[in-house]
Amino acid sequence: MNEKAAPGGGGPTNGPLPPGIPDGFSGPIDRTAQFESVNGQTGENMRAEAPRPRKRDTDGGDPARSREFDLLGIGLGPFNLSTACLATSVPQMRTHFLEQRADNRWHPRVLFPESDLQVSFLKDLVSLVEPTNRFSFLNFLVHTGRIHRFASTPQVPVPRWEFARYYAWAAGQLANAEFSRGVTHVQFLSDSFHVHTEQGVYTARNLSVGAGLVPSIPACAKSHVGPRVLHSSDFLAARERMVGQHVAVVGGGQSGAEIFSHLLDRPPARRPASITWITRRNTFACMDDSAFTNEFFHPDYVRYFHQLAPERRHDLLSRQQLASDGISTALLQHIYRRLYENDFADPDPIRYRLLPGNALRDMSPQGTGWHLGLLHQDSGTRGGSIVDTVVLATGYEFALPDFLAPLADRLPDPSPLGLPLRDDYSVPWAGPDRNRIFFLNAGRHSHGIADPNLSLASWRAAHILNSLVGTAHFRTGGRTSTCEWPGLHTANETTAVDGAYLDVTVPAEGRRG
Ligand SMILES: Cc1cc2nc3c(=O)[nH]c(=O)nc-3n(C[C@H](O)[C@H](O)[C@H](O)COP(=O)(O)OP(=O)(O)OC[C@H]3O[C@@H](n4cnc5c(N)ncnc54)[C@H](O)[C@@H]3O)c2cc1C
Repeated sequence: MNEKAAPGGGGPTNGPLPPGIPDGFSGPIDRTAQFESVNGQTGENMRAEAPRPRKRDTDGGDPARSREFDLLGIGLGPFNLSTACLATSVPQMRTHFLEQRADNRWHPRVLFPESDLQVSFLKDLVSLVEPTNRFSFLNFLVHTGRIHRFASTPQVPVPRWEFARYYAWAAGQLANAEFSRGVTHVQFLSDSFHVHTEQGVYTARNLSVGAGLVPSIPACAKSHVGPRVLHSSDFLAARERMVGQHVAVVGGGQSGAEIFSHLLDRPPARRPASITWITRRNTFACMDDSAFTNEFFHPDYVRYFHQLAPERRHDLLSRQQLASDGISTALLQHIYRRLYENDFADPDPIRYRLLPGNALRDMSPQGTGWHLGLLHQDSGTRGGSIVDTVVLATGYEFALPDFLAPLADRLPDPSPLGLPLRDDYSVPWAGPDRNRIFFLNAGRHSHGIADPNLSLASWRAAHILNSLVGTAHFRTGGRTSTCEWPGLHTANETTAVDGAYLDVTVPAEGRRG
């Protein structure tokens, strides 16, 4: 879809309700009244007291009615979690979120204790759109009694484990979230979605699909996946089996670097016998974390990107890869220094090979291990490596979740980059306009490289909720970029003050020259 974003802001403005707005929504929402009504607390005492779980059944104990929702979220990773947290300040809207796991865990199989969050902690579940929301990261620090020590510890960037605990803290207090509720299939009957779980059926007018991405496995490795050919998402559970083995890590992004570094840093008795690190890129490339590139992760750029022609978006995505898929500078420096120590100081050095510029072309069993066929990207020479275990740090891609199979023929064809989403993250589908299906983490091709990133989680969630309630309940508009992007702003709009643009055009007499 190539829809033009409204200049100066993507959030809907007050006016007639768009299709899909549940009954009972009538016009702009009084935010003060809502704020006071959450948990029956005022803004002041909400700040002073620890958030408490709310009563789960909001319909006087009638379980059937309590299962009919305006918005039902499937999956409770960070993205739907953000929607669930922000929805607590829109109490007129009946939302509910289902998660298959017994509790909230953020990438549990690949969360290294030593790895850091790759975004600012301000990019938490709520703060970029509603910093007063009780589910902010700072509120988590206060309520878990660590804010003073956090403030005195050089914690930038924040370790990933800390954000995992923050997510679990938030999820554990949501009255609109249920765990151990794996969704098996979704049907659309007359005017609502019927969402099936082992425990029962939930009905909703709109869906928010946040079931995450699936491992991207190179074609030549697909038939070999098992205990000795595994995706990076299964690494932690498998690492003890790699002690004393020859291990290849395929992939030169952050995950590949974290796994290589983790294996390198293990105590000598628990290391592999050797590690071979392979990437198709011509070097182990650094993430472009520079100031203006970071504006690709601002709402303005997302709006600009969305209105471009599909071919152009495709081209930009491939050129912007290192803005999201490169390796952090700190990790690269750590690895480089560690290899120096390994080679010149370590009494018990590990054997390693670094193979940039090599594409994995084929794989075949060799004894109890694997022969990896490599093609050098510059010279065209063929090479190989024989290893016991292969870790595929080859990223993630979109696939339509199995539970949506009953609706597949009413949806556009998915690609590994997602679905052709509308500006408000809903998908055009062969069903009533008043019933929308929002997709989170399925818009790389429609909304750009920010889509799988945590940066805009709260902005996207707010944009979706605004679209559902039909008002600018959350402030999602206003200029957010230093750069000018065609179709969005005029040259005179430089910054937003209270939702209005400040015109800082320099008066003629003040101009230089
Ligand atoms: C190791 C790792 C580290 C990352 N670190 C960063 C970072 O530092 N900064 C950054 O910007 N991005 C990071 N990312 C990228 C991105 O932020 C994360 O992948 C993020 O978790 C995506 O959130 P999500 O909600 O889309 O999916 P997920 O986190 O994958 O969550 C999806 C949820 O849906 C549930 N689910 C699936 N199917 C069903 C079903 N049928 N019924 C019910 N529930 C279901 C799953 O159990 C899961 O809990 C990282 C990614 C990885 C893999």
